Amino acid sequence: MSQTPTRADFDRYMVPNYAPQQAIPVRGEGSRLWDQEGREYVDFAGGIAVNSLGHCHPVLVEALTAQANKLWHLSNVYTNEPALALARSLVERTFADKVYLCSSGGEANEAALKLARRWAHDNVSEHKHRIVSFSQSFHGRTLFTVSVGGQPKYAQGFGPVPGGIVHGEFNDLDSVRDLIDDDTCAVVVEPMQGEGGIVPATPEFLHGLRALCDAHDALLIFDEVQTGVGRTGTLFAHEQYGVTPDILTSAKALGGGFPVGAMLTTDRVAPAFGFGTHGSTYGGNALASAVALAAVEHIDTPEVLEGVKRRHERFREHLEAINAKHGVFREIRGMGLLIGAEMAPAFEGRAKDILPLAIEEGVMALIAGPNVLRLAPSLVIPEADIDEGMVRLERAVARLVAGQ
Ligand SMILES: *Cc1c(COP(=O)(O)O)cnc(C)c1O
Repeated sequence: MSQTPTRADFDRYMVPNYAPQQAIPVRGEGSRLWDQEGREYVDFAGGIAVNSLGHCHPVLVEALTAQANKLWHLSNVYTNEPALALARSLVERTFADKVYLCSSGGEANEAALKLARRWAHDNVSEHKHRIVSFSQSFHGRTLFTVSVGGQPKYAQGFGPVPGGIVHGEFNDLDSVRDLIDDDTCAVVVEPMQGEGGIVPATPEFLHGLRALCDAHDALLIFDEVQTGVGRTGTLFAHEQYGVTPDILTSAKALGGGFPVGAMLTTDRVAPAFGFGTHGSTYGGNALASAVALAAVEHIDTPEVLEGVKRRHERFREHLEAINAKHGVFREIRGMGLLIGAEMAPAFEGRAKDILPLAIEEGVMALIAGPNVLRLAPSLVIPEADIDEGMVRLERAVARLVAGQ
């Protein structure tokens, strides 16, 4: 048998674009994980808002294994039952009329941006190609999506980057008025910025973007890769704002841990992706689609969605209690189970220092930029796990404050 892999193997064999924590989890169940040494962790990170039903949820294991014994993959030269069932389920549950399936959030956004350009090209002219995005936004790591994203560091050194992209200020409608015109094909926005620091859009902002898009015949794209599939307490976050996009992207929670992405759009826009215009070998993969279908059907129920709102309150109460004792946070915010705690001025830029302490105390968390501690746990995390994880998180925070 080959040797058991160690953390040192990461530095030895893997491209150094990540810097994972030292512990290597080997098993997960619900919201608990165990590492190679048998140490146990409460999972508030959820694989970056991906493990929507925790680890190895029986509904997803059943969907995956049942499909694994039937059919894995065909390509799009042939279609398959799980992909068709997933597309139908998404259409029936949302504003959308048509679905394009792929394997990640970046790919879903790449498709959305290409669709917007092609739609404007086919229906108006090639001059209508400008894309309005926002500073601090995040849309993926392909060259197009880092260019559209509003964090220049992700595009740095990768130029020349695609042109025709401008950035306004999030939640500032006036900044968009200066940028949008009849040559704009799309405005792309996260209803709540995730990587950018867990910042919800104001209702006026999203309603205003819809009106500006309508005035200039531009498409409104909602990137719900992080906020979608129950994460905020509704199937998609935009439902809470009463604003409907022309294109929506989903991934992360959609597969509950299996790589899958989707782009949803309307009958007005979809024809611009005619036969041969775009594609992906893995898009609509039968295993991925079977798992995503099970995840969507399990999550889009009153029990799970109401449970997300209830758990939000519990997380918030715990974080406020920690803050009352230690004064580390300036603000606690977010929607549903995507929660951010911005560091107080005395701890400016130190959110990342909590993570290794938290791991030592037995809880996994995330950051969103240097100044925000981010929690994105399973949507069905047991309340006892929330309480236990918070005891551990408080110990990590106390150590940060004590300078240990
Ligand atoms: C994570 C994320 C992406 C990128 O998804 P990948 O699956 O990593 O390609 C895009 N947009 C948002 C809002 C995200 O949070």
